[in-house]
This record gives sequence, C-alpha cells and structure tokens, in this order.
Amino acid sequence: MSKEFDVVVIGAGPAGYVAAIRAAQLGMDVACIDKWLDLNDKPSLGGTCLNAGCIPSKALLESSELYDRANNEFGDHGIKASKVELDLAQMQKRKAGVVSQLTGGISSLFKANGVKSFAGSGQVVDSGEVLFVGHDGKEDTFTAKNIIIAAGSEPVELDIAPFDGERIVDSWGALEFDEVPKKLGVIGAGYIGVELGSVWSRLGSDVTLLEAVDEFMPIADRDVAKEGLKSFKKQGLDIQLGARVTEAKATKKGVEVKYTQGDESHNVTFDRLIVAVGRRPHTKDLCAKGARVELDDKGFVDVNDNFRTSLPGVYAVGDVIGNPMLAHKGMEEGVAVAEILAGQKPHLNYDVIPSVVYTHPEMAWVGKSEAQVKSAGTEYRVGQVPFAANGRAKALGQQGGFIKMIADAETDEILGVHMIGPYVSELVQEMVVAMEYKASSEDIARIIHGHPTLGETVHETALAVDGRPIHF
Ligand code: FAD
Repeated sequence: MSKEFDVVVIGAGPAGYVAAIRAAQLGMDVACIDKWLDLNDKPSLGGTCLNAGCIPSKALLESSELYDRANNEFGDHGIKASKVELDLAQMQKRKAGVVSQLTGGISSLFKANGVKSFAGSGQVVDSGEVLFVGHDGKEDTFTAKNIIIAAGSEPVELDIAPFDGERIVDSWGALEFDEVPKKLGVIGAGYIGVELGSVWSRLGSDVTLLEAVDEFMPIADRDVAKEGLKSFKKQGLDIQLGARVTEAKATKKGVEVKYTQGDESHNVTFDRLIVAVGRRPHTKDLCAKGARVELDDKGFVDVNDNFRTSLPGVYAVGDVIGNPMLAHKGMEEGVAVAEILAGQKPHLNYDVIPSVVYTHPEMAWVGKSEAQVKSAGTEYRVGQVPFAANGRAKALGQQGGFIKMIADAETDEILGVHMIGPYVSELVQEMVVAMEYKASSEDIARIIHGHPTLGETVHETALAVDGRPIHF
C-alpha cells in the first residue's frame, strides 16, 4: 500500500514541525514522520528541543534558580523563609508537565493545520519516495512531490566515556536525574555543559567541568566569556580548562575519570558524569543504500542556498544541515523551505542570529565579536556599560554584568552586541531587530527607552559608543 502527499517531512523537531505547518498553510498536503519516543515509550513530537533540550533544560534552570535565590537572596530582601527544602520529584514532575503541554501542543497544531502525523521512522528511498516503518514494525511507502529532511542531531558519544544511561549520561540523561549527585563531572564547558552544570550545582552538587580547550567559551566575545567564567567560578562551578579526559570508567561506586592538564595527570571520582561535547547530525539509516543524498565531510546533509540536497526534490533543514545548531535557526529554515516549495523567494540572514546561554547571569550576543571585527581589519568603536549603573538591575538585586556594543567607526552601523547580565536573553532581541535593519548606534541612542528597565542599559551602551553616556 502506498500513500501520496505533496510533501513528506522527516522529523518533527523545530525545523520539521515548522516546515510541515508552513507547507500546510500554503495549501500543500503534508505528512510528517517522527520516531521520537518519550521515557514511557510513547511517541512525542517536538524533537530534541521540546523533549530533551531547550524546554526541559530551561524548566529546570528556572526551578533551580528559584531554589538558589530562596536560599541565598531572600534574606537580602527581608524575607525570612525558615527552611527551604528541595522536592526534586516535584521539580521533575513540573518539568515533565511543561514538556508534555508543549509536545501535545504540536499535535494540536498539526491537527488544526491538517498535517498528517506518523509515528515511526522515515527513510529516503529516492526522489519522491519515502519508506515509512511504524513503531509497530509495519512498512508503508509514501510518495511525494517533495521531501524535507529535518532529522536533527544527537549527542556525540566518546569512545573513552561510553554512555551507560546510569553513571555516564548524555544531556537528556542529565535532565532526568532522580537524585542530586554529590559529585558531578561534566565533560565539555560549552553552553549545554554550563547550563546543566548550573542546574545541579544550584541544587547542591559539587560540580567540576572538564574542558579540553584552553579558552572558556571560544564562540563568545572574550570580555563576556571572561566575566562569565568569573561569575560561574564564584558560584562554585569548578571549571578546568585545557583538561583532556583520557578515560572514564563506571564502577559500582561512581565514575573514575582520568584527565591530563598541561604536564599533570589527574584521577578523580564522580558520582555521575555528563558528556556534553557537542552534537552530530542524525543521518544513520536516513537514506536507503543508493539514495544519492550527499553529506559533507562532517556528516551534515549537503544543501545549496535553497536547502536542496543532491537528490532532486529532496530538501534538508535544521541541525542536520549544520551550524549554528539552534532551534530558532531551524524553525526559520523550516518556514523558508516551505515557502520555496510554494514558489516564493524567502531570505534568511545568517549574520544576525542571536545566541543565548541561559545561566545566571545569562550571556547573549548577536553579530561579530570584537576579535572578529578586528581581524576583518574594520575600524570600530566600542561602548560598554555595566548593569551596576541601571536602577532596575539594582532593584532586582542583579547588577552583575554589562552590555558591550561594537559599531563601525566610519558608518556607525552596529556590528555586534555582547551581553552578560539579567534577562539578556530578552534584551538581545532589540539588537537583533536593530541589526536586521542595519541600525547605527546613534539610532539606538536616539530612541526613548522605558524607565526603569534593563533596556536602558542597551540605550546607555549606544550612547557610550559615542563617548557620551549619561549614567556611567
Ligand atoms: P531535532 O530537534 O533534533 O529533531 C529531529 C527529529 O527528527 C527528532 O524528533 C528525531 O527523532 C526525528 N528523526 C530523526 N531521524 C528520523 C527518521 N529517520 N525518521 C523519523 N524521525 C526521525 N537550541 C536553542 O535554540 N535554544 C536552546 O536553549 C537550546 N537548548 C538546548 C539544550 C540542550 C540540553 C540540547 C541538547 C539542545 C539545545 N538546543 C537549544 C538545540 C536544539 O535542541 C536543536 O538545535 C534543535 O532541536 C534542532 O531542531 P531540529 O528540528 O533540526 O532537530
């Protein structure tokens, strides 16, 4: 038996579900195949982001931050809470509730838009042909004018530290601990490592992050990374840079980890170890033998500017086509590919994609770092203003961090904005809009920002680019 559609989407993560909905909005008959099973072996839409990434991590970050603030900051505000106790089971239950509301929401959106959802795996057989294998093992052939691959990514596993789902876990496992590990090791101090490390540190773990690279967060502007490292260390995260793990062995007592740092060798035992060393494209069994979908040298699906793969009528979007591996990048690619199939000419500006690290303080940036601007040989001016000069930040009791704005010295166009501090995940959005419209620092300096808001530091930083801040 075969089923016929205009479009078959493989994968219902942010890239795939958005592509499916947008294609349906544009009048196409759409099937979306996804193989994700939740911890109870039930199909669940939303991919990594909703089930095991962005959403559960942010739910636990929020709960653990509240717990930490109740313990460490309430007193300052004159609030006496005699005994703050952790109920981890309830915290995990709340997180699971947030996830299921959102994953269920995708099912409702599919129904509302007429997207047909199939639980199982999809394999590209040829142009216009997908083999569907349901979770019950039944096979079916789907034919379609176009196929969109949105198969996402999976955690990289290290040979020297294989996952056992118990003591050595990936990022999903790290979101599911049912007790707070006394001593927690994390291999990798990228954004996933520091977010997960922060969650468990706030809940009481003694956390060590082992990062092979000598620099902290090389993708961030150096000033922001330096300030982040200082804050996280102050919070008790033990971040070891230039620490190369050579072996991790799970035993009944814990995980024995060997690592080298410079000339020194170290042995340390953790109760649990999270491996957060990056993600790789999820392409295993994605295409049948002989289906000519080419991959690049890192294993990502190779696409042209219109998301076309080497196989006619087959497109790919999201993590499976490469960096930045972020949900919001994938979603916009999902919209764009559907519009391309409808004959439209969408455009994505990859130079203006915000990045956020949801720690406390948060880090966020958009555009070029100072080092990138310098190495491009562009003359530039910088404004940098601390949140300590902001009334709202003081009232919140969160005056750590700063905003740094880099503008072209000749044209004044904003080239990059880098932030560390309270709610900068939200503040960066103003800069995304500004940069999309090629705003100058003077444009931002001339816009009235509400008082007292954290956004005033954006305004003040723009003034500082021209050397005329008022409050700092
Ligand atoms: P995915 O979300 O990986 O979805 C792919 C889907 O395809 C999956 O459901 C998979 O089961 C399915 N699939 C794969 N192969 C097949 C097949 N052959 N047949 C059927 N189905 C298939 N990004 C952010 O932007 N912000 C964040 O705050 C953030 N936090 C994160 C925190 C963590 C802990 C992690 C791990 C990731 C985080 N990310 C974050 C990254 C984000 O989750 C990914 O960038 C995003 O999920 C990619 O979307 P996608 O649709 O390309 O792929």
